[in-house]
Amino acid sequence: MADILAPVTDEKARSFSIAEQDDRKLVRRLTFSYVAALTLIAVLSALVHLLLDNIITQQSSSGSVIKVAQRQITQTQRVTKAALDWTMGGRPAARQELADAVKLMAASNEVLTGRSASYGFQVELSSAMHGIFFESPVALDNEVKRFVYHAEALLDTGNDALNRAIHLQVMREAASGDLLHGLDRAVSQFELEASERVESLRDAQKVVLVILLLTLAAEAFFIFRPLVNSVQLYAQRLLELATRDALTGLHNRRHFFELGQREFDRSRRASKPCALLLFDIDHFKAVNDTYGHATGDDVIRGIAEIACDMTRRTDIAARVGGEEFVILLPDTGLEAAALVGEKLRRAIEAAPYGTRSLHATVSIGIAEAEAADVNLSDTLARADIALYQAKREGRNRLVQAADSPAV
Ligand code: GH3
Ligand code: MG
Ligand code: MG
Repeated sequence: MADILAPVTDEKARSFSIAEQDDRKLVRRLTFSYVAALTLIAVLSALVHLLLDNIITQQSSSGSVIKVAQRQITQTQRVTKAALDWTMGGRPAARQELADAVKLMAASNEVLTGRSASYGFQVELSSAMHGIFFESPVALDNEVKRFVYHAEALLDTGNDALNRAIHLQVMREAASGDLLHGLDRAVSQFELEASERVESLRDAQKVVLVILLLTLAAEAFFIFRPLVNSVQLYAQRLLELATRDALTGLHNRRHFFELGQREFDRSRRASKPCALLLFDIDHFKAVNDTYGHATGDDVIRGIAEIACDMTRRTDIAARVGGEEFVILLPDTGLEAAALVGEKLRRAIEAAPYGTRSLHATVSIGIAEAEAADVNLSDTLARADIALYQAKREGRNRLVQAADSPAV
């Protein structure tokens, strides 16, 4: 007997309810892992976002620091030029330019050395930067302060030409010597550190991205695949429930008409014969009345099993009523169907049923689809008439339907 047609036994019913409990646990477990998986993805995505955000912030603040450091170089030249314009070029307006440029230079130095955050960002000096600003041989911070000191001193000197010349000389030497080199080194070091910082953040971003992709792959394998499998399993179970008779595992009435009509139409198109065996258990009420409903069920299941065993894969066997069955035999004419029906009748008559080893018989009506039959139900109606004739004629027998009346 085909496995899919196996009748639903008590054993099966029990394992079914155990399966339902397992299903509920499985659904809970899947839901939990699904939520956990989504949370993990959300956390990793947030991490990627934060890293990107950090990279952007780093880049923009590094850009600002580098800009300020580069401006110190031009500022040195502006201060020197303004000092020369004022003292030697005789341009009084240059004094104010000198004062402004010196002030800006001093303020920028405070920001670059991390002592002030007045430009909206806080510089944190690396040890290399610290060395450039505060350690010999150059100690840029001292150089800037010395330059600013002389520029301010120059602003304060009246008409003392000697003092002016001394301050100017110191400033000009610094602007083209140690101060300039120190500032150059600082700019290069700031640039180097900025690109290193961004590089290391990029590496971290790549690592998180790889983790994210691996997590997605693992989720697809461990969560989504079982999820899809479960859905497929449930869909299959639902289909079985909708199309199978629970007691016998045979097709139910609705599904029989669906499949049977398709087969009826196919045989019509192919000009092939197609026959129906409709059979009903004899005096079944008495079985129920005498031995109880459960024993009656045993008989129904036993007969269904025999019907399954005796049919081919292409035949369609169904339970269409309480103790009424039908078998559609494709590509089979009336004579061949009668042989199958007779074999079936004998097998049913010979078999013992249930724990009490009861015996049962069936009456069978046979009909072949004819040109006048518009639908499967027309052929079935003629098989039904034949079945009742078999009942009338004494039961446990097979009657062939009369031809359809001509139309
Ligand atoms: P006949 O030979 O004329 O067919 O007589 P019968 O007693 O078999 O026919 P009847 O239609 O009078 O009785 C059919 C009985 O089948 C009535 C009903 O209680 C019983 N029956 C229907 N479905 C089931 C079922 O699923 N299980 C059991 N145990 N009995 C059922
Ligand atoms: Mg009956
Ligand atoms: Mg009946």
